[in-house]
Amino acid sequence: MPLSTLAGQLAQLEASGLKRQRRLLQGPQGAHVTVEGREYIAFCSNDYLGLAAHPALVQAAQEGAGRYGTGAGASHLILGHSIAHHALEEALAGFVDLPRALLFSAGYMANIGVVTALVGRDDAVFADKLNHASLNDAVLLSRAGFRRYAHLDLAALEKQLAASRSRRKLVVTDAVFSMDGDIAPVPELLALCERYEAWLMLDDAHGFGVLGRDGRGALSHFGVSSPRVIYMATLGKAAGVSGAFVAGAPDMIETLMQRARSYIYTTATPPLLAHTLLKSLELIECEQWRRDQLARLAGQLKRGLAANRWKLMPSDTAIQPLVIGPNADAVALSERLAQRGLLVPAIRPPTVPQGTARLRISFSATHSEDDVRRLIAALSELQ
Ligand code: PMP
Repeated sequence: MPLSTLAGQLAQLEASGLKRQRRLLQGPQGAHVTVEGREYIAFCSNDYLGLAAHPALVQAAQEGAGRYGTGAGASHLILGHSIAHHALEEALAGFVDLPRALLFSAGYMANIGVVTALVGRDDAVFADKLNHASLNDAVLLSRAGFRRYAHLDLAALEKQLAASRSRRKLVVTDAVFSMDGDIAPVPELLALCERYEAWLMLDDAHGFGVLGRDGRGALSHFGVSSPRVIYMATLGKAAGVSGAFVAGAPDMIETLMQRARSYIYTTATPPLLAHTLLKSLELIECEQWRRDQLARLAGQLKRGLAANRWKLMPSDTAIQPLVIGPNADAVALSERLAQRGLLVPAIRPPTVPQGTARLRISFSATHSEDDVRRLIAALSELQ
């Protein structure tokens, strides 16, 4: 195949407004950033609690580097599993109130590892249509039967579960949907899983640190727990560092340790990150004001855009998407905001369904009410 077919494909992406660009961030992530020499207020990150550049975490990272060096040097099952990783696993399990936890290097790898270790050819996975791409990739890789149900449509899910003759059934869902900000009805999903003897895998990448008592995540938010739950959360978003963990029943975690290929065949993350995350967990737990601030900012935005031509999607989380529709319109609006010193990403297909291109406004606890006032003023002027 000639290489020119790639150029043709890329030109097509560009023509349909789907070609992506990277901006060069100088310095740390935060509510206020410097990009290519210019200062912006950024509503782009998943650094919900504003911890990604927190001085206490920077200090913990330095201390961790001094104590453990820079690299783990081996996979967990060889000699890469340090006392820092171990202490973090125990702290995370305790924090989300589940028996045992296992660290992964990224949420993407955790999702791949869990699904492929727990289900295979004779099994079936039932998945919300708006789940994160990593969950979909995981199911494809597992070779299990793949049934997708319309977003939050529990009646459709129940029909699929009732009709299934598969040996193992696994329901997978984002707990907080990454591009919509809405929350899955976990108690109802769990009740269905009990009825049809399925496992429930929750991807709480956007809920951990943000939802529930002291930021304990989606299970705490709903006050539910069950040995059927496989709980996954990431550590590069609200926790402000990097990585992910899976928590649940001891035999499930042991199975992942023995069988999850994205756990086994990769170098452990630097122990200094685990050391830093122990500090991060303390801040998540103790600094409720960060979650209160997120709620305040979301309320301010909703009130400020109530009369706007574009509508916010129904969301009570730090993710507040504004639906624009056509790809080119979303991109143009994002660019006009950037000219005014405001960075808000335009999210387009295939990340979201066709015709629902949107601005994904995400808040950090370090945004001020004045930052949000400026965003509201610019959107009102541009509508
Ligand atoms: N799940 C969801 C819902 C996510 O939004 C993301 C990250 N965008 C991931 C998993 C992947 O996590 P990580 O970035 O740690 O690979």
